[in-house]
Amino acid sequence: MFVEASYGYFRSMEVGYVDIYEKIVELLKRRGFLWPSFEIYGGLRGFVTYGPLGIELKHRIEEKWREWFIYKQGFVEIESPIIMPEVIFKASGHLDHFTDPVVECLDCKRKFRADHIIEDATGKVAEGLGIEEIEEIIEKENIKCPECGGRLGKVGQFNLMFKTTIGPYSENRGYARPEAAQGMFVEFKRIFTVTREKLPLGIAQIGKVLRNEISPRKGLIRLREFTIMEVEVFVDPEDLSCPKLSEVEDEELKLVTADMRARNEEEPLIVTAREAVDKGYISAEWQAYFMVISKYFISSLGIPWERQRFKEQMPWEKAHYSKQTFDHEIYLQRFGWVEVAGHAYRTDYDLKRHMEHSRVDLTVFKRFKEPQIIEKIVVQPLKEIIKSDFGDNAQKVFSMLKNVNPMDIKVSFDKKGYYEFDGIRIEPKHVKIEKKTEKITGRRFIPHVFEPSFGADRLVYATLECSYSVKENRVVLKLPRDLAPIQVAVFPLVNKDNLPSTAQRVWMSLRDEGIRAMYDNSGSIGRRYARADEVGVPIAVTIDYQTQKDDTVTLRDRDTWQQIRISVHDLTNELLDYFKGRKNFEELGKSSK
Ligand code: AMP
Repeated sequence: MFVEASYGYFRSMEVGYVDIYEKIVELLKRRGFLWPSFEIYGGLRGFVTYGPLGIELKHRIEEKWREWFIYKQGFVEIESPIIMPEVIFKASGHLDHFTDPVVECLDCKRKFRADHIIEDATGKVAEGLGIEEIEEIIEKENIKCPECGGRLGKVGQFNLMFKTTIGPYSENRGYARPEAAQGMFVEFKRIFTVTREKLPLGIAQIGKVLRNEISPRKGLIRLREFTIMEVEVFVDPEDLSCPKLSEVEDEELKLVTADMRARNEEEPLIVTAREAVDKGYISAEWQAYFMVISKYFISSLGIPWERQRFKEQMPWEKAHYSKQTFDHEIYLQRFGWVEVAGHAYRTDYDLKRHMEHSRVDLTVFKRFKEPQIIEKIVVQPLKEIIKSDFGDNAQKVFSMLKNVNPMDIKVSFDKKGYYEFDGIRIEPKHVKIEKKTEKITGRRFIPHVFEPSFGADRLVYATLECSYSVKENRVVLKLPRDLAPIQVAVFPLVNKDNLPSTAQRVWMSLRDEGIRAMYDNSGSIGRRYARADEVGVPIAVTIDYQTQKDDTVTLRDRDTWQQIRISVHDLTNELLDYFKGRKNFEELGKSSK
Protein backbone atom coordinates (compact mmCIF):
# COMPACT_ATOMS: atom_id res chain seq x y z
CA MET A 1 0.00 0.00 0.00
CA PHE A 2 1.04 3.58 -0.57
CA VAL A 3 1.65 4.59 3.03
CA GLU A 4 3.48 1.43 3.92
CA ALA A 5 5.73 1.61 0.90
CA SER A 6 6.44 5.28 1.35
CA TYR A 7 7.38 4.94 5.00
CA GLY A 8 9.49 1.87 4.32
CA TYR A 9 11.34 3.92 1.73
CA PHE A 10 11.54 6.99 3.95
CA ARG A 11 13.21 5.04 6.73
CA SER A 12 15.47 3.09 4.45
CA MET A 13 16.78 6.33 2.89
CA GLU A 14 18.06 7.27 6.32
CA VAL A 15 19.39 4.03 7.69
CA GLY A 16 20.07 1.90 4.63
CA TYR A 17 18.16 -1.14 3.44
CA VAL A 18 17.85 -2.82 6.78
CA ASP A 19 15.10 -3.62 9.17
CA ILE A 20 15.33 -0.70 11.58
CA TYR A 21 13.66 -2.82 14.28
CA GLU A 22 16.61 -5.22 14.49
CA LYS A 23 19.04 -2.30 14.71
CA ILE A 24 17.07 -0.64 17.49
CA VAL A 25 16.70 -3.86 19.48
CA GLU A 26 20.45 -4.46 19.21
CA LEU A 27 21.20 -0.90 20.37
CA LEU A 28 18.75 -1.10 23.26
CA LYS A 29 20.30 -4.32 24.54
CA ARG A 30 23.91 -3.26 24.04
CA ARG A 31 23.52 0.13 25.72
CA GLY A 32 21.23 -1.16 28.47
CA PHE A 33 17.96 0.59 27.61
CA LEU A 34 15.94 -2.62 27.81
CA TRP A 35 16.10 -6.32 26.97
CA PRO A 36 14.01 -9.50 27.21
CA SER A 37 13.68 -10.49 30.88
CA PHE A 38 15.07 -13.62 32.55
CA GLU A 39 17.84 -13.97 29.98
CA ILE A 40 19.97 -16.25 32.20
CA TYR A 41 17.11 -18.76 32.26
CA GLY A 42 16.55 -18.60 28.54
CA GLY A 43 14.04 -15.73 28.59
CA LEU A 44 10.26 -15.67 28.49
CA ARG A 45 8.24 -13.94 25.80
CA GLY A 46 6.17 -10.94 26.72
CA PHE A 47 8.35 -9.58 29.54
CA VAL A 48 11.04 -6.91 29.34
CA THR A 49 13.45 -5.40 31.82
CA TYR A 50 14.21 -1.72 31.56
CA GLY A 51 17.83 -0.85 32.28
CA PRO A 52 19.22 2.49 33.49
CA LEU A 53 18.70 4.42 30.24
CA GLY A 54 15.41 2.80 29.29
CA ILE A 55 13.68 3.47 32.59
CA GLU A 56 14.75 7.13 32.44
CA LEU A 57 13.24 7.43 28.96
CA LYS A 58 10.05 5.71 30.08
CA HIS A 59 9.77 7.97 33.13
CA ARG A 60 10.20 11.04 30.91
CA ILE A 61 7.39 9.81 28.63
CA GLU A 62 5.17 9.17 31.65
CA GLU A 63 5.95 12.63 32.99
CA LYS A 64 5.03 14.22 29.68
CA TRP A 65 1.80 12.28 29.70
CA ARG A 66 1.10 13.61 33.20
CA GLU A 67 1.69 17.15 31.91
CA TRP A 68 -0.78 16.73 29.04
CA PHE A 69 -3.42 14.55 30.66
CA ILE A 70 -3.33 15.49 34.34
CA TYR A 71 -1.71 18.83 35.13
CA LYS A 72 -2.99 20.81 32.12
CA GLN A 73 -6.48 19.35 32.61
CA GLY A 74 -6.72 19.88 36.37
CA PHE A 75 -7.33 16.16 36.90
CA VAL A 76 -6.20 14.03 39.86
CA GLU A 77 -3.97 10.97 40.00
CA ILE A 78 -4.38 7.86 42.13
CA GLU A 79 -2.62 4.53 42.59
CA SER A 80 -4.77 1.47 43.24
CA PRO A 81 -3.82 -2.21 43.65
CA ILE A 82 -2.77 -4.47 40.78
CA ILE A 83 -4.44 -7.56 42.27
CA MET A 84 -8.19 -7.30 42.63
CA PRO A 85 -10.83 -9.70 43.94
CA GLU A 86 -12.85 -11.73 41.45
CA VAL A 87 -16.10 -9.85 42.08
CA ILE A 88 -14.65 -6.72 40.46
CA PHE A 89 -14.03 -8.48 37.18
CA LYS A 90 -17.36 -10.25 37.37
CA ALA A 91 -18.96 -6.81 37.65
CA SER A 92 -16.77 -5.19 35.00
CA GLY A 93 -17.48 -7.96 32.49
CA HIS A 94 -13.82 -8.94 32.09
CA LEU A 95 -14.43 -12.48 33.34
CA ASP A 96 -16.84 -13.07 30.49
CA HIS A 97 -15.49 -10.83 27.77
CA PHE A 98 -11.76 -10.29 28.16
CA THR A 99 -10.82 -13.16 25.90
CA ASP A 100 -8.88 -13.85 22.73
CA PRO A 101 -9.50 -16.75 20.36
CA VAL A 102 -6.97 -19.55 20.71
CA VAL A 103 -6.27 -22.50 18.44
CA GLU A 104 -4.06 -25.54 19.00
CA CYS A 105 -2.04 -27.40 16.40
CA LEU A 106 -3.18 -31.02 16.45
CA ASP A 107 0.36 -32.21 15.63
CA CYS A 108 2.88 -30.11 17.60
CA LYS A 109 0.33 -29.00 20.24
CA ARG A 110 1.51 -25.39 20.11
CA LYS A 111 -1.19 -22.81 20.77
CA PHE A 112 -1.71 -19.62 18.77
CA ARG A 113 -3.95 -16.58 18.73
CA ALA A 114 -6.41 -17.68 16.08
CA ASP A 115 -7.19 -14.24 14.60
CA HIS A 116 -3.47 -13.42 14.32
CA ILE A 117 -2.81 -16.68 12.43
CA ILE A 118 -5.43 -15.59 9.90
CA GLU A 119 -3.92 -12.11 9.63
CA ASP A 120 -0.42 -13.53 9.11
CA ALA A 121 -1.64 -16.02 6.50
CA THR A 122 -4.04 -13.81 4.54
CA GLY A 123 -3.12 -10.22 5.41
CA LYS A 124 -6.76 -9.61 6.37
CA VAL A 125 -7.76 -8.19 9.76
CA ALA A 126 -9.60 -10.79 11.82
CA GLU A 127 -9.59 -9.17 15.26
CA GLY A 128 -12.98 -9.23 16.94
CA LEU A 129 -14.46 -11.97 14.73
CA GLY A 130 -16.57 -14.68 16.37
CA ILE A 131 -15.31 -18.25 16.90
CA GLU A 132 -17.42 -19.67 14.06
CA GLU A 133 -16.28 -17.05 11.58
CA ILE A 134 -12.65 -17.71 12.52
CA GLU A 135 -13.07 -21.46 12.13
CA GLU A 136 -14.74 -20.94 8.78
CA ILE A 137 -11.85 -18.80 7.49
CA ILE A 138 -9.22 -21.27 8.76
CA GLU A 139 -11.05 -24.04 6.95
CA LYS A 140 -11.73 -22.09 3.76
CA GLU A 141 -8.23 -20.64 3.44
CA ASN A 142 -6.69 -23.96 4.47
CA ILE A 143 -4.54 -22.29 7.12
CA LYS A 144 -2.03 -24.58 8.80
CA CYS A 145 0.17 -24.40 11.91
CA PRO A 146 2.78 -21.69 11.29
CA GLU A 147 5.40 -23.73 13.19
CA CYS A 148 5.06 -27.27 11.83
CA GLY A 149 2.48 -27.03 9.05
CA GLY A 150 0.16 -29.34 10.99
CA ARG A 151 -3.64 -29.29 11.06
CA LEU A 152 -5.29 -26.80 13.42
CA GLY A 153 -7.96 -27.91 15.89
CA LYS A 154 -11.11 -26.20 17.15
CA VAL A 155 -10.96 -22.55 18.12
CA GLY A 156 -11.63 -21.72 21.78
CA GLN A 157 -11.82 -18.60 23.94
CA PHE A 158 -8.90 -17.88 26.27
CA ASN A 159 -9.33 -15.40 29.14
CA LEU A 160 -6.32 -13.11 29.23
CA MET A 161 -6.39 -12.33 32.95
CA PHE A 162 -3.72 -13.82 35.23
CA LYS A 163 -5.52 -15.67 38.00
CA THR A 164 -4.31 -16.09 41.57
CA THR A 165 -5.60 -16.75 45.06
CA ILE A 166 -5.54 -14.11 47.76
CA GLY A 167 -4.09 -15.51 50.98
CA PRO A 168 -4.18 -19.23 51.73
CA TYR A 169 -7.83 -19.73 50.80
CA SER A 170 -8.34 -21.23 47.37
CA GLU A 171 -11.87 -19.83 47.21
CA ASN A 172 -10.52 -16.25 47.51
CA ARG A 173 -9.87 -15.86 43.83
CA GLY A 174 -8.17 -12.74 42.55
CA TYR A 175 -6.91 -11.48 39.21
CA ALA A 176 -4.15 -9.18 38.09
CA ARG A 177 -5.82 -6.16 36.56
CA PRO A 178 -5.76 -6.03 32.74
CA GLU A 179 -6.50 -2.28 32.82
CA ALA A 180 -6.11 0.39 35.49
CA ALA A 181 -9.61 1.73 34.88
CA GLN A 182 -11.41 -0.56 37.33
CA GLY A 183 -9.38 1.01 40.17
CA MET A 184 -10.87 4.38 39.26
CA PHE A 185 -14.43 3.04 39.05
CA VAL A 186 -14.28 1.07 42.28
CA GLU A 187 -12.85 4.04 44.19
CA PHE A 188 -14.97 6.65 42.42
CA LYS A 189 -17.26 7.41 45.35
CA ARG A 190 -14.48 8.33 47.77
CA ILE A 191 -12.48 10.30 45.17
CA PHE A 192 -15.62 12.22 44.22
CA THR A 193 -16.18 13.07 47.90
CA VAL A 194 -12.61 14.16 48.63
CA THR A 195 -12.46 16.30 45.49
CA ARG A 196 -15.53 18.25 46.70
CA GLU A 197 -18.13 16.53 44.57
CA LYS A 198 -17.62 18.33 41.28
CA LEU A 199 -18.13 17.13 37.74
CA PRO A 200 -16.44 16.80 35.32
CA LEU A 201 -13.98 14.80 37.40
CA GLY A 202 -10.89 13.33 35.75
CA ILE A 203 -9.13 10.52 37.59
CA ALA A 204 -5.82 9.29 36.20
CA GLN A 205 -3.58 6.39 36.92
CA ILE A 206 -0.25 5.12 35.61
CA GLY A 207 0.65 1.58 36.53
CA LYS A 208 1.42 -1.97 35.58
CA VAL A 209 -1.25 -4.17 34.06
CA LEU A 210 -1.03 -7.82 33.10
CA ARG A 211 -2.50 -9.62 30.14
CA ASN A 212 -1.70 -13.24 29.53
CA GLU A 213 -1.21 -12.76 25.78
CA ILE A 214 -1.38 -16.07 23.90
CA SER A 215 1.72 -15.77 21.73
CA PRO A 216 3.48 -12.41 22.06
CA ARG A 217 6.13 -12.00 19.38
CA LYS A 218 6.55 -8.29 18.90
CA GLY A 219 8.86 -7.04 21.65
CA LEU A 220 7.54 -3.89 23.32
CA ILE A 221 4.43 -3.91 21.14
CA ARG A 222 2.90 -6.99 22.71
CA LEU A 223 3.87 -7.63 26.31
CA ARG A 224 2.33 -9.71 29.05
CA GLU A 225 3.17 -7.08 31.67
CA PHE A 226 3.12 -3.46 30.60
CA THR A 227 2.47 0.05 31.84
CA ILE A 228 -0.80 1.73 31.11
CA MET A 229 -1.58 5.44 31.44
CA GLU A 230 -5.30 5.99 31.78
CA VAL A 231 -7.76 8.75 32.52
CA GLU A 232 -11.43 8.27 33.33
CA VAL A 233 -13.40 11.48 33.01
CA PHE A 234 -16.75 11.39 34.78
CA VAL A 235 -19.38 13.74 33.40
CA ASP A 236 -23.07 14.53 33.71
CA PRO A 237 -24.93 12.55 30.99
CA GLU A 238 -27.31 15.47 30.54
CA ASP A 239 -24.37 17.74 29.75
CA LEU A 240 -21.87 15.95 27.56
CA SER A 241 -20.32 19.18 26.32
CA CYS A 242 -16.59 19.62 26.85
CA PRO A 243 -15.85 23.18 28.00
CA LYS A 244 -12.27 22.99 26.74
CA LEU A 245 -13.02 21.87 23.19
CA SER A 246 -13.31 25.47 22.01
CA GLU A 247 -9.61 25.98 22.84
CA VAL A 248 -8.55 23.34 20.31
CA GLU A 249 -11.52 23.00 17.98
CA ASP A 250 -9.62 24.17 14.87
CA GLU A 251 -6.96 21.51 15.24
CA GLU A 252 -6.98 18.96 12.44
CA LEU A 253 -7.60 15.29 13.07
CA LYS A 254 -7.03 12.42 10.64
CA LEU A 255 -9.82 9.91 10.88
CA VAL A 256 -10.49 6.52 9.38
CA THR A 257 -14.08 6.00 10.50
CA ALA A 258 -15.89 2.69 10.83
CA ASP A 259 -18.05 3.62 7.83
CA MET A 260 -14.95 4.29 5.76
CA ARG A 261 -13.43 1.01 6.85
CA ALA A 262 -16.63 -0.77 5.84
CA ARG A 263 -16.15 0.74 2.38
CA ASN A 264 -12.44 -0.23 2.39
CA GLU A 265 -11.39 3.42 2.36
CA GLU A 266 -8.02 3.72 4.09
CA GLU A 267 -7.07 7.28 3.06
CA PRO A 268 -7.92 9.29 6.18
CA LEU A 269 -10.46 12.04 6.31
CA ILE A 270 -8.94 15.33 7.48
CA VAL A 271 -11.34 17.39 9.57
CA THR A 272 -11.09 19.82 12.43
CA ALA A 273 -12.07 18.57 15.87
CA ARG A 274 -15.20 20.75 15.76
CA GLU A 275 -16.25 19.46 12.33
CA ALA A 276 -15.67 15.89 13.46
CA VAL A 277 -18.23 16.39 16.22
CA ASP A 278 -20.68 18.49 14.20
CA LYS A 279 -20.71 15.99 11.36
CA GLY A 280 -21.12 13.09 13.76
CA TYR A 281 -17.85 11.28 13.02
CA ILE A 282 -16.92 11.52 16.69
CA SER A 283 -19.83 10.86 19.02
CA ALA A 284 -18.99 13.35 21.78
CA GLU A 285 -17.03 16.54 22.38
CA TRP A 286 -14.89 15.00 25.11
CA GLN A 287 -13.71 12.31 22.71
CA ALA A 288 -12.69 14.92 20.13
CA TYR A 289 -10.97 17.03 22.77
CA PHE A 290 -8.87 14.14 24.05
CA MET A 291 -7.98 13.11 20.51
CA VAL A 292 -6.47 16.56 19.97
CA ILE A 293 -4.59 16.37 23.28
CA SER A 294 -3.45 12.93 22.21
CA LYS A 295 -2.10 14.41 18.97
CA TYR A 296 -0.19 17.09 20.93
CA PHE A 297 1.20 14.57 23.37
CA ILE A 298 2.33 12.04 20.75
CA SER A 299 3.82 14.80 18.60
CA SER A 300 5.77 16.06 21.63
CA LEU A 301 7.52 12.67 21.69
CA GLY A 302 9.04 13.50 18.31
CA ILE A 303 6.57 11.33 16.40
CA PRO A 304 5.63 13.21 13.22
CA TRP A 305 1.98 13.86 12.40
CA GLU A 306 2.40 12.03 9.06
CA ARG A 307 2.89 8.86 11.06
CA GLN A 308 -0.26 9.28 13.14
CA ARG A 309 -3.94 8.66 12.51
CA PHE A 310 -7.13 7.79 14.39
CA LYS A 311 -8.94 4.61 13.39
CA GLU A 312 -12.44 3.92 14.63
CA GLN A 313 -13.07 0.40 15.84
CA MET A 314 -15.70 -1.62 14.03
CA PRO A 315 -18.70 -2.66 16.16
CA TRP A 316 -17.32 -6.20 16.62
CA GLU A 317 -13.85 -4.93 17.56
CA LYS A 318 -15.03 -2.66 20.37
CA ALA A 319 -14.64 -3.64 24.01
CA HIS A 320 -17.89 -4.71 25.68
CA TYR A 321 -18.17 -1.39 27.57
CA SER A 322 -17.65 1.03 24.72
CA LYS A 323 -20.13 3.04 22.70
CA GLN A 324 -17.47 4.39 20.34
CA THR A 325 -13.71 3.84 20.27
CA PHE A 326 -11.03 5.53 18.21
CA ASP A 327 -7.54 4.03 18.27
CA HIS A 328 -4.67 6.47 17.99
CA GLU A 329 -2.26 4.67 15.68
CA ILE A 330 1.38 5.24 14.81
CA TYR A 331 3.07 3.90 11.70
CA LEU A 332 6.04 1.68 12.57
CA GLN A 333 8.38 0.37 9.94
CA ARG A 334 8.15 -3.32 10.78
CA PHE A 335 4.66 -3.53 12.22
CA GLY A 336 2.68 -1.04 10.10
CA TRP A 337 -0.07 0.92 11.87
CA VAL A 338 0.00 0.13 15.59
CA GLU A 339 -2.48 1.25 18.23
CA VAL A 340 -0.83 3.27 20.98
CA ALA A 341 -3.97 4.63 22.62
CA GLY A 342 -7.67 3.92 22.75
CA HIS A 343 -10.22 6.71 23.12
CA ALA A 344 -13.41 5.12 24.39
CA TYR A 345 -16.80 6.40 25.43
CA ARG A 346 -17.57 3.98 28.27
CA THR A 347 -20.96 5.55 29.12
CA ASP A 348 -22.25 4.57 32.60
CA TYR A 349 -21.52 0.90 31.97
CA ASP A 350 -18.87 0.34 34.65
CA LEU A 351 -20.38 2.35 37.50
CA LYS A 352 -23.77 0.80 36.86
CA ARG A 353 -22.33 -2.71 36.98
CA HIS A 354 -20.40 -1.97 40.18
CA MET A 355 -23.59 -0.58 41.72
CA GLU A 356 -25.42 -3.78 40.86
CA HIS A 357 -22.69 -6.05 42.24
CA SER A 358 -21.66 -4.06 45.33
CA ARG A 359 -25.19 -2.79 46.11
CA VAL A 360 -23.56 0.54 46.95
CA ASP A 361 -25.08 3.70 45.57
CA LEU A 362 -22.55 5.22 43.14
CA THR A 363 -24.85 7.90 41.82
CA VAL A 364 -23.98 11.55 42.29
CA PHE A 365 -26.25 14.34 43.36
CA LYS A 366 -26.22 17.57 41.41
CA ARG A 367 -27.82 20.55 43.10
CA PHE A 368 -29.96 22.83 40.93
CA LYS A 369 -29.06 26.52 40.92
CA GLU A 370 -32.56 27.20 42.26
CA PRO A 371 -34.80 24.60 43.95
CA GLN A 372 -37.59 23.47 41.64
CA ILE A 373 -41.22 22.90 42.48
CA ILE A 374 -42.55 19.86 40.68
CA GLU A 375 -45.98 18.34 40.48
CA LYS A 376 -46.15 14.65 40.94
CA ILE A 377 -48.73 11.93 40.94
CA VAL A 378 -49.05 9.93 44.14
CA VAL A 379 -50.92 6.65 44.43
CA GLN A 380 -52.27 5.86 47.91
CA PRO A 381 -53.51 2.32 48.54
CA LEU A 382 -57.00 2.10 50.04
CA LYS A 383 -56.10 -0.59 52.52
CA GLU A 384 -59.49 -1.88 53.61
CA ILE A 385 -60.81 -2.41 50.09
CA ILE A 386 -57.55 -4.05 48.99
CA LYS A 387 -57.60 -6.39 51.98
CA SER A 388 -61.18 -7.43 51.38
CA ASP A 389 -60.71 -7.87 47.59
CA PHE A 390 -57.28 -9.56 47.61
CA GLY A 391 -57.22 -11.41 50.93
CA ASP A 392 -53.84 -13.24 51.26
CA ASN A 393 -52.46 -11.38 48.27
CA ALA A 394 -52.97 -7.95 49.85
CA GLN A 395 -49.35 -7.63 51.06
CA LYS A 396 -48.11 -8.35 47.55
CA VAL A 397 -50.35 -5.59 46.22
CA PHE A 398 -49.04 -3.09 48.80
CA SER A 399 -45.43 -3.78 47.95
CA MET A 400 -46.16 -3.64 44.22
CA LEU A 401 -47.84 -0.26 44.64
CA LYS A 402 -44.79 1.02 46.50
CA ASN A 403 -42.40 0.06 43.71
CA VAL A 404 -44.34 0.85 40.59
CA ASN A 405 -44.17 4.20 38.82
CA PRO A 406 -47.45 5.99 39.78
CA MET A 407 -47.63 7.48 36.29
CA ASP A 408 -47.83 3.98 34.77
CA ILE A 409 -50.88 3.24 36.92
CA LYS A 410 -52.58 6.48 35.97
CA VAL A 411 -51.92 6.01 32.25
CA SER A 412 -53.20 2.43 32.41
CA PHE A 413 -56.36 3.52 34.27
CA ASP A 414 -56.99 6.22 31.66
CA LYS A 415 -56.47 3.80 28.80
CA LYS A 416 -57.86 0.50 30.03
CA GLY A 417 -59.71 1.29 33.24
CA TYR A 418 -57.40 -0.97 35.27
CA TYR A 419 -53.68 -1.73 35.90
CA GLU A 420 -52.44 -5.29 35.75
CA PHE A 421 -49.28 -6.67 37.35
CA ASP A 422 -48.24 -10.29 37.81
CA GLY A 423 -51.80 -11.45 37.20
CA ILE A 424 -53.25 -8.98 39.76
CA ARG A 425 -55.72 -6.43 38.47
CA ILE A 426 -55.91 -3.11 40.32
CA GLU A 427 -58.95 -0.94 39.71
CA PRO A 428 -59.52 2.75 40.51
CA LYS A 429 -61.56 1.75 43.61
CA HIS A 430 -58.38 0.29 45.20
CA VAL A 431 -56.33 3.48 45.22
CA LYS A 432 -56.55 7.20 45.59
CA ILE A 433 -54.63 9.13 42.92
CA GLU A 434 -53.59 12.62 43.90
CA LYS A 435 -51.47 15.40 42.45
CA LYS A 436 -48.92 16.78 44.89
CA THR A 437 -46.31 19.47 44.63
CA GLU A 438 -42.80 18.87 45.87
CA LYS A 439 -39.72 21.03 46.24
CA ILE A 440 -36.62 19.35 44.85
CA THR A 441 -33.11 20.68 45.19
CA GLY A 442 -31.25 18.61 42.61
CA ARG A 443 -31.05 15.34 40.71
CA ARG A 444 -29.26 12.01 41.10
CA PHE A 445 -27.59 10.18 38.24
CA ILE A 446 -24.81 7.82 37.29
CA PRO A 447 -22.01 9.76 35.57
CA HIS A 448 -20.89 8.87 32.06
CA VAL A 449 -17.23 8.22 31.39
CA PHE A 450 -14.76 9.12 28.64
CA GLU A 451 -11.45 7.32 28.62
CA PRO A 452 -8.16 7.96 26.86
CA SER A 453 -5.89 4.97 27.55
CA PHE A 454 -2.21 4.79 26.50
CA GLY A 455 0.33 1.99 26.56
CA ALA A 456 3.65 3.45 27.77
CA ASP A 457 5.85 0.68 26.38
CA ARG A 458 4.59 0.98 22.81
CA LEU A 459 5.31 4.68 23.07
CA VAL A 460 8.86 3.97 24.23
CA TYR A 461 9.43 1.91 21.08
CA ALA A 462 7.70 4.40 18.76
CA THR A 463 9.71 7.27 20.25
CA LEU A 464 12.94 5.36 19.72
CA GLU A 465 12.06 4.41 16.15
CA CYS A 466 11.19 7.98 15.24
CA SER A 467 14.37 9.35 16.78
CA TYR A 468 16.69 6.77 15.23
CA SER A 469 18.86 8.27 12.52
CA VAL A 470 22.22 7.66 10.93
CA LYS A 471 24.74 10.39 10.17
CA GLU A 472 28.05 9.62 8.52
CA ASN A 473 27.56 5.95 9.37
CA ARG A 474 26.99 6.70 13.04
CA VAL A 475 23.75 6.30 14.94
CA VAL A 476 22.31 9.50 16.37
CA LEU A 477 19.26 9.10 18.56
CA LYS A 478 17.48 12.40 18.02
CA LEU A 479 15.29 12.22 21.11
CA PRO A 480 13.45 15.42 22.00
CA ARG A 481 15.67 17.19 24.53
CA ASP A 482 13.17 16.81 27.37
CA LEU A 483 13.00 13.04 26.89
CA ALA A 484 16.72 12.30 26.83
CA PRO A 485 17.71 9.89 29.62
CA ILE A 486 21.06 11.68 29.93
CA GLN A 487 20.91 15.41 29.29
CA VAL A 488 24.56 16.37 29.24
CA ALA A 489 27.83 14.49 28.75
CA VAL A 490 30.93 16.07 30.26
CA PHE A 491 34.32 15.22 28.80
CA PRO A 492 37.89 16.29 29.54
CA LEU A 493 39.58 16.67 26.15
CA VAL A 494 42.52 14.58 27.37
CA ASN A 495 43.28 12.68 30.53
CA LYS A 496 46.07 14.92 31.79
CA ASP A 497 47.05 18.47 32.74
CA ASN A 498 44.29 18.82 35.33
CA LEU A 499 41.54 18.70 32.68
CA PRO A 500 39.82 15.68 34.31
CA SER A 501 39.54 17.37 37.71
CA THR A 502 38.06 20.55 36.16
CA ALA A 503 35.67 18.39 34.12
CA GLN A 504 34.57 16.50 37.23
CA ARG A 505 33.88 19.75 39.04
CA VAL A 506 31.72 20.91 36.13
CA TRP A 507 29.96 17.53 36.05
CA MET A 508 29.14 17.69 39.75
CA SER A 509 27.91 21.26 39.63
CA LEU A 510 25.48 20.28 36.85
CA ARG A 511 24.29 17.30 38.86
CA ASP A 512 23.78 19.50 41.91
CA GLU A 513 21.34 21.58 39.88
CA GLY A 514 19.34 18.50 38.93
CA ILE A 515 20.73 18.11 35.41
CA ARG A 516 21.13 14.45 34.47
CA ALA A 517 24.79 14.58 33.49
CA MET A 518 27.37 11.85 32.84
CA TYR A 519 31.14 11.94 32.88
CA ASP A 520 33.22 10.02 30.35
CA ASN A 521 36.98 10.12 30.00
CA SER A 522 37.71 6.88 28.17
CA GLY A 523 38.80 6.72 24.54
CA SER A 524 39.23 9.47 21.98
CA ILE A 525 36.97 12.50 22.11
CA GLY A 526 35.43 11.43 18.79
CA ARG A 527 34.45 8.05 20.19
CA ARG A 528 33.00 9.68 23.28
CA TYR A 529 30.84 11.99 21.14
CA ALA A 530 29.69 8.95 19.16
CA ARG A 531 28.78 7.00 22.31
CA ALA A 532 26.79 9.97 23.59
CA ASP A 533 25.01 10.53 20.23
CA GLU A 534 23.99 6.89 20.09
CA VAL A 535 22.00 7.15 23.33
CA GLY A 536 20.59 10.56 22.50
CA VAL A 537 22.54 12.89 24.84
CA PRO A 538 21.54 16.33 23.46
CA ILE A 539 24.61 18.31 24.59
CA ALA A 540 28.23 17.46 25.22
CA VAL A 541 30.46 19.76 27.28
CA THR A 542 34.20 19.49 26.67
CA ILE A 543 36.80 20.93 28.98
CA ASP A 544 39.97 21.75 27.00
CA TYR A 545 43.13 23.85 27.24
CA GLN A 546 41.21 27.00 26.40
CA THR A 547 39.18 26.42 29.59
CA GLN A 548 42.32 27.00 31.62
CA LYS A 549 42.92 30.31 29.86
CA ASP A 550 39.49 31.93 29.83
CA ASP A 551 37.16 29.71 31.85
CA THR A 552 35.07 28.73 28.83
CA VAL A 553 34.03 25.26 27.66
CA THR A 554 32.96 23.79 24.32
CA LEU A 555 29.31 22.89 23.89
CA ARG A 556 28.47 20.46 21.09
CA ASP A 557 25.00 19.90 19.69
CA ARG A 558 24.04 16.25 19.12
CA ASP A 559 21.98 16.80 15.97
CA THR A 560 24.03 19.34 14.04
CA TRP A 561 27.43 18.64 15.64
CA GLN A 562 27.80 22.40 15.78
CA GLN A 563 30.14 23.68 18.53
CA ILE A 564 30.06 26.93 20.52
CA ARG A 565 31.99 28.24 23.51
CA ILE A 566 30.36 29.37 26.70
CA SER A 567 31.71 30.52 30.06
CA VAL A 568 31.67 28.02 32.92
CA HIS A 569 29.99 30.67 35.03
CA ASP A 570 26.91 30.72 32.75
CA LEU A 571 26.86 27.04 31.91
CA THR A 572 24.30 25.70 34.40
CA ASN A 573 21.72 28.44 33.90
CA GLU A 574 22.05 28.32 30.14
CA LEU A 575 21.60 24.55 30.13
CA LEU A 576 18.58 24.82 32.41
CA ASP A 577 17.09 27.34 29.94
CA TYR A 578 17.86 24.97 27.07
CA PHE A 579 16.19 21.98 28.73
CA LYS A 580 13.16 24.03 29.70
CA GLY A 581 12.82 24.92 26.02
CA ARG A 582 13.46 28.63 26.65
CA LYS A 583 16.52 28.72 24.38
CA ASN A 584 17.78 26.84 21.38
CA PHE A 585 21.34 25.63 21.03
CA GLU A 586 22.47 28.59 18.89
CA GLU A 587 21.18 31.03 21.49
CA LEU A 588 23.18 29.58 24.37
CA GLY A 589 25.63 32.00 25.93
CA LYS A 590 24.28 34.90 23.85
CA SER A 591 22.55 36.82 26.63
CA SER A 592 25.69 36.86 28.75
CA LYS A 593 27.75 38.74 26.18
P1 AMP B 1 -6.66 -1.44 25.35
O1 AMP B 1 -7.26 -1.39 26.71
O2 AMP B 1 -6.56 -2.84 24.78
O3 AMP B 1 -7.24 -0.44 24.39
O4 AMP B 1 -5.14 -1.01 25.56
C1 AMP B 1 -4.78 0.28 25.87
C2 AMP B 1 -3.39 0.53 25.36
O5 AMP B 1 -2.46 -0.36 25.98
C3 AMP B 1 -3.21 0.26 23.87
O6 AMP B 1 -3.53 1.39 23.11
C4 AMP B 1 -1.75 -0.09 23.77
O7 AMP B 1 -0.97 1.08 23.67
C5 AMP B 1 -1.45 -0.75 25.07
N1 AMP B 1 -1.43 -2.22 24.99
C6 AMP B 1 -2.48 -3.05 24.88
N2 AMP B 1 -2.08 -4.33 24.88
C7 AMP B 1 -0.72 -4.31 24.99
C8 AMP B 1 0.29 -5.32 25.07
N3 AMP B 1 -0.02 -6.61 25.05
N4 AMP B 1 1.58 -4.92 25.18
C9 AMP B 1 1.92 -3.61 25.23
N5 AMP B 1 1.00 -2.62 25.17
C10 AMP B 1 -0.30 -2.96 25.06
